[in-house]
Amino acid sequence: MRAVCWQGKGKVGVEEVREPRILDARDAIVKISSTAICGSDLHLYDGYMPTMEAGDILGHEFMGEVVEVGREVKHLGVGDRVVVPFPIACGRCAFCRRGEFALCDNSNPNAALAEQLYGYSSAGIFGYSHLLGGFAGGQAEYARVPFADVGPIKIPAGLRDEQVLFLSDVLPTGYMAAEQCAIQPGATVAVWGCGPVGQFALLSARLLGAERVIAIDRFPDRLERARAHSFAVALNYDEVDIPGALRDITAGRGPEACIDAVGLEAHGTTVGAMYDRVKQALGLEMDRANVLRQAIQTCGKGGVVSTPGVYAGWIDSFPFGTAFNKSLRLVHGQTHVQRYMAPLLDRIQNNEIDPSFIVTHRMPLDEAPRAYQMFRDKQDKCLKVVLSPEPMHLQAA
Ligand code: NAD
Ligand code: ZN
Repeated sequence: MRAVCWQGKGKVGVEEVREPRILDARDAIVKISSTAICGSDLHLYDGYMPTMEAGDILGHEFMGEVVEVGREVKHLGVGDRVVVPFPIACGRCAFCRRGEFALCDNSNPNAALAEQLYGYSSAGIFGYSHLLGGFAGGQAEYARVPFADVGPIKIPAGLRDEQVLFLSDVLPTGYMAAEQCAIQPGATVAVWGCGPVGQFALLSARLLGAERVIAIDRFPDRLERARAHSFAVALNYDEVDIPGALRDITAGRGPEACIDAVGLEAHGTTVGAMYDRVKQALGLEMDRANVLRQAIQTCGKGGVVSTPGVYAGWIDSFPFGTAFNKSLRLVHGQTHVQRYMAPLLDRIQNNEIDPSFIVTHRMPLDEAPRAYQMFRDKQDKCLKVVLSPEPMHLQAA
């Protein structure tokens, strides 16, 4: 079959690889109809996540049709249309039972590697480095889905792929980022980054009752989308001083919640941001944290800094004294996607949310190399690319 493979820093290719097969009684094989490229994939593409190997199949946002199930997978059958959540979770360990699926204790076969770096391992993730399991991803014609009796959600007829595909990751991710802010009536929520995660964080903050949402980015098309879909106040950090603007908008108090939907590849032109870039390039720190620092600095007293943006390792000059003295609550982590799929699918079916507004590009899987480059470089107003192994699905969309 054809699959999108990591070939090295800045290089992906579509390769002919072996089709997956059932390895465990709880597996399913899914024939993929649609798969998306995520901002998280860019961290692999740009070479910032350790333990990638040439030939690794990428992709953790995918959906399709079940073509085979292991004997213990009772609630799915051949022919079912499913969306697959990106964290792989057993459903039985203490973390899964608490709904903390991204912390599953049993799904990372390379846990020992992660333990060396982090002390304990989080869940395995499709197509996301050997540190997180070395699982083949879903930017391919077929994928093996472990613990298929827990993760995939069945999609009722009548919904297009693009309406439900983002249940696999970015919609729950934006939602959890906002939910963790415990938004109170009258609250102002500021969101750094207007990529797909930022767009859904803004929208979710609104759904959860924020009075005002503020979108921060430097790409006018992304800011415009935030304004149009979430009625956000848009701030272009190339044009305005963000800390000053946030103070002005909130009558000096600062936002009650700040969401970092940017993560470890934050762009910036300040001296601090340059310093991070140099240190990251020299391998002296793993993440560029200028957005996280700014969020902590500008957040109002007693507020929440919620970080869906991915961080991989060590950060310098972390303003913990600021967080401490303002009594900020810091929340973050990979998303417990399985927890949010059913309630968000309900909201999609009730027409409360139509996540398809983020899709700007639909392309055949074979054009993945161009798609990665376009999405990374924000060319052609690219906000989200949906790839399909079968051109017929592109027409149907
Ligand atoms: P994206 O690359 O499309 O969006 C990132 C946006 O941040 C861009 O629009 C960019 O212009 C903006 N940005 C860069 N520097 C900035 C700055 N200094 N101030 C404000 N904005 C800035 O990516 P995405 O798909 O939206 O993902 C965003 C982040 O969320 C990534 O780090 C991704 O890995 C992470 N993510 C996390 C989870 C999770 O489970 N926690 C899931 C999905 C994605
Ligand atoms: Zn993702």
